[in-house]
Amino acid sequence: MSPVNTRARTPTENPGANNSTSLPKHGVVGVVRLGSVGEAVLNIVAANLQEILHVPVDILPARQTPEFAYSDSRKQYHAALILKNLAESRRPHPRILALVSVDLFIPVLTHVFGEAQMGGRAAVVSIHRLRQKEEGSRIALDTFYERAVKVALHEVAHTFDLVHCSQPECIMRFSSGPSDLDELPLFFCEYCEAFLEEAYRRYDIQRLPE
Ligand SMILES: [Zn+2]
Ligand SMILES: [Zn+2]
Repeated sequence: MSPVNTRARTPTENPGANNSTSLPKHGVVGVVRLGSVGEAVLNIVAANLQEILHVPVDILPARQTPEFAYSDSRKQYHAALILKNLAESRRPHPRILALVSVDLFIPVLTHVFGEAQMGGRAAVVSIHRLRQKEEGSRIALDTFYERAVKVALHEVAHTFDLVHCSQPECIMRFSSGPSDLDELPLFFCEYCEAFLEEAYRRYDIQRLPE
């Protein structure tokens, strides 16, 4: 069974929107889709980030494909340029995660599933290669959703200073291909979990109650 949670929280459910309690008016993570990304994968990623990171997550209005990051020579989109643009967002969210369907690269690698600013504000995930098996045929939809959640979780954790982890059972393990990704668990090891808690304290981020 897939651990992926399909329950989604939408901006209209923002706890601070309709009352005057002390709940925050915006989430810690704002998730935005850039270009043609399905609503289902967007909702599933947002819901699971909220559940696993224990911080409120908002879905932001969709934006266009980041054409400014397109490289003519690579025929791909430069992840670092997208991150730089996201980091300048005027949204109040301390962290911004973008989902894109275009293929991402950084200069030293042929492609990346995702990229994040270490200890920064922005992270990006591409679903472009997550729908395929290594030999090119399509994978089951729940596997695709699970991969998207895993990459998103891993990248957002980098923005909270988490580095790659050598524990076998940890989402922060480095993965180089989709099959690596499928072996990752959808949770942090105890060390990374503790590191995340410490980062929340450092960045003054309030965890959601259990
Ligand atoms: Zn990483
Ligand atoms: Zn770990």
